Amino acid sequence: MHILLMGPPGAGKGTQAAKLVEEFGIPHISTGDMFRAAVKEGTPLGRQAKEFMDAGQLVPDSVTIGIVKERLAKPDCQEGFILDGFPRTTEQAEALDRTLQELGIRLDRVINIIVPDSELVSRMTGRRICRGCGATYHVKFNPPRTGSICDKCRGELYQRDDDREETVTKRLAVYQAQTRPLIEYYQDKGLYTEIDGQQDIDKVMSDIVASLKGKER
Ligand SMILES: [Zn+2]
Repeated sequence: MHILLMGPPGAGKGTQAAKLVEEFGIPHISTGDMFRAAVKEGTPLGRQAKEFMDAGQLVPDSVTIGIVKERLAKPDCQEGFILDGFPRTTEQAEALDRTLQELGIRLDRVINIIVPDSELVSRMTGRRICRGCGATYHVKFNPPRTGSICDKCRGELYQRDDDREETVTKRLAVYQAQTRPLIEYYQDKGLYTEIDGQQDIDKVMSDIVASLKGKER
């Protein structure tokens, strides 16, 4: 099962990816992990990527695509994978198509976990973190027992700058604009499925599995 997993920050993509790994026994390949592994292994592409990252620059497509290609060519991807965080643009999607063709792999499904922006804002802006021990809370879904004090170490809870409403709203707008062309790209190929990410975690998962099984070839 070769799956592309999409979804905005805060949609619960990581949770679902972990469940899919368990269900299908295939690797979860996220762009971040892939970069870290390539840098750690010191592959030529990993070294190039590191130079850009150390300089605080974006890693160019040629390097990113090369790293994706090296990863997908590994034997554990033959039976399937859950690709997450790549592609981000239609150019990258086209490059991915070429790579998969070279490897003799066909993408089975593109799953997009959809959650309305208003809900994502409330999920993300509610996060609080303990200054003392790093424990995470949520004002609505997982509140501390007293005020803004950590249950575990009595430390002070704070909101990360990344979780402030303006930052979150801006990040979501960028994400939606970036993703729209990709959605069209995979719709045209008949691979695209939307899953309602507002349901509880297990229902989201069973909807994903049903969509994958329905399309098995
Ligand atoms: Zn604490």
